[in-house]
Amino acid sequence: MKDGLELLYTLQQQDDKIARIENILQEIPIEIKKLEKERDNKASIVQDTRTKLDQNKKQREELEKQILQTKEKIKKKKEQLNKATTNKEYQGFITEIKYEEASITSIEEKIIEKMVESDEIMQEIRKNESEYNKIAKEYNKKIKDFTTDFKYQKVKLEKEIKNKAEIQSKVQEKLLKIYNKLFTKKSGKAVSYVETCFCGICNMKIRPQLLSEIISNKKLITCENCGRILYKKIEEENNKDQA
Ligand SMILES: [Zn+2]
Repeated sequence: MKDGLELLYTLQQQDDKIARIENILQEIPIEIKKLEKERDNKASIVQDTRTKLDQNKKQREELEKQILQTKEKIKKKKEQLNKATTNKEYQGFITEIKYEEASITSIEEKIIEKMVESDEIMQEIRKNESEYNKIAKEYNKKIKDFTTDFKYQKVKLEKEIKNKAEIQSKVQEKLLKIYNKLFTKKSGKAVSYVETCFCGICNMKIRPQLLSEIISNKKLITCENCGRILYKKIEEENNKDQA
């Protein structure tokens, strides 16, 4: 029984190893997605500044249009001015024309403001782009490292599954059946390592009678609380006692 139990414990350790790798393989794609999302959020800052530039361009075009429309108005007023019959009418058109000309000046000033703003936005774009490129480089490197690790872990998993098969082939069929049943029922933990006198998984104190049975190693003992196979490394404990 002693060898059988030791093999079961080795099998459990191997299954733990596999579970850890499987866990890593599950976590890596989540980490990669998180990094990609963060990186793309930073890209949106660049996009926002580009949108600002587009808006600025549209505003300028709108102002240019206003100038053309005002010029058209002035042209019409000048035609009317030529046809004016009274001095009052004439003066009226002159005032209106002056008003429109003044409005052109004010629109032109607005256009200049928008042009200055456009230069500032372009500087901002260059700054944000260079910041983004730096950040993206770091993120892409992290993503690449994770991708490499993922491939490595996959190879490792295959290797460890093969090692498990080898261990399994040495275990008695009867014991393996018990192990596999518990493994499924107890979420991957069939064997519990006993530290001093506690079940290593559920932490239940083991009765002295049961403990001495575990130490005698004559039969398979399960935890009275969680039902897992209890395993205690005897030699080392004995050595420690002698030391
Ligand atoms: Zn237990």
